[in-house]
Amino acid sequence: MKRVHGSLYFSLILMTWIPLVGFAIIMLGYATSMLKTGMEEEVEEALRNLGISIIETYETAYPGDYGMDREGHVIKGEHVLYGEYSLIDHMKEETGVEVSLIYENTRMLTTIRNKENKRIGGTVVSEVVLEHVLKDGEEFFSKDLSISGEKYYGYYLPLVNSDGAVAGMLFVGKQQKEVNGKVNRMIGQILIIGLIVLVFAAVFSICYTKNIINAIDKMMEFLRKVATGDLSARQDEKLIARNDEIGEMGRLALSVQQSLKTLIERDGLTNLYNRRSGESKLRELEKQVKESEDTFSIALGDIDFFKKFNDDFGHECGDVVLKKVAECFEQHITGHEEYAIRWGGEEFLLIFMGLDEKKAFLETEKILSSIQNMKVTYGDKEVSVTMTLGVAEYRKDETIDRLVKRADDSLYKGKALGRNRVVAGL
Ligand code: GH3
Ligand code: MG
Ligand code: MG
Repeated sequence: MKRVHGSLYFSLILMTWIPLVGFAIIMLGYATSMLKTGMEEEVEEALRNLGISIIETYETAYPGDYGMDREGHVIKGEHVLYGEYSLIDHMKEETGVEVSLIYENTRMLTTIRNKENKRIGGTVVSEVVLEHVLKDGEEFFSKDLSISGEKYYGYYLPLVNSDGAVAGMLFVGKQQKEVNGKVNRMIGQILIIGLIVLVFAAVFSICYTKNIINAIDKMMEFLRKVATGDLSARQDEKLIARNDEIGEMGRLALSVQQSLKTLIERDGLTNLYNRRSGESKLRELEKQVKESEDTFSIALGDIDFFKKFNDDFGHECGDVVLKKVAECFEQHITGHEEYAIRWGGEEFLLIFMGLDEKKAFLETEKILSSIQNMKVTYGDKEVSVTMTLGVAEYRKDETIDRLVKRADDSLYKGKALGRNRVVAGL
């Protein structure tokens, strides 16, 4: 029989892994985007608040409007702001953000320095920012700002003079790598936790799948034995104790084995062992006894004048008598080392494991007495049954055929002596 291996194992593993890994990727993507958005919103809010507080500080320190003096220096009220870095440098030191004061479109004061560590004052702000802030007087948050080759989150606030005109803007910015570093650290943590969960899920799914596959393998092994005729194959205890479909399949396979065994080993009419299984039982015992001090005896019995039941009352009546006699044997043959076999027609063979001829003779007499006292009713008739039995103990140097022949000889001696008796000693 062809052995199939492996495909179900991988199907089951894939069945758990595809959705698991898919779910993990989607969750990681979603978490990353949510974290980034959340972080950006926080940065926007923080930059705006900082910008407002700087503007207010300027307002308090230097009351008046923003403007430009004759030398082209930015002023506020009476105060020349040109060269006044202390406030914005202090802000940078405290909060880590870059600050620029932009007059019209040009950076006048800034904390941002280029690679040569020079302030990048004098540079011009982009068109989009000018459009939103300088022209429309709106605040503007930029996520895509590049200053001196570095990526920034930048917040622009309009600097409004007393007449409502927008004189310039205040820029507060934070380097993206600072924010992204935080996000990346968090994603790293999520990744590690996710990986640990995945490893646990993997170990669990592999163990669970292996457990199922092992159980199925054991059941296949059992069925393979049964399929090749081994009806005494043992089903794994743990498998049939399982409280799931596999356990149920295991129990059903066991019932199939039992039914097959009954069909093959038992006689359909009396449910006693049939001759074939009886013979193999005798061969088993022969082997067992030869290797030990044990002994066993047999009794071969034949119903007296059985033909008469058939002739007088019909074949069915004969069947009833056979079943009743079999029931009587079953009542006496209770130990698991005693067997009752329908040897053929109205002949039966009894096996008494561990009994010598004398004890087997006495036991057989008890059985005959039960048969004599047995009431067999067929319709409104009551018939009585007797048997003649020949007993023989196994001798270690003889064959089973020889043993049965000796019992048969005793049986015929009994028939010749007038039936309804037990004979031994041949
Ligand atoms: P004896 O005392 O010498 O044994 O006489 P007997 O009538 O029992 O012996 P005989 O061998 O002449 O008859 C046995 C009969 O048993 C013949 C056969 O038709 C009948 N028989 C065999 N098997 C069955 C069965 O399964 N059912 C029925 N009803 N009869 C059966
Ligand atoms: Mg006969
Ligand atoms: Mg007979």
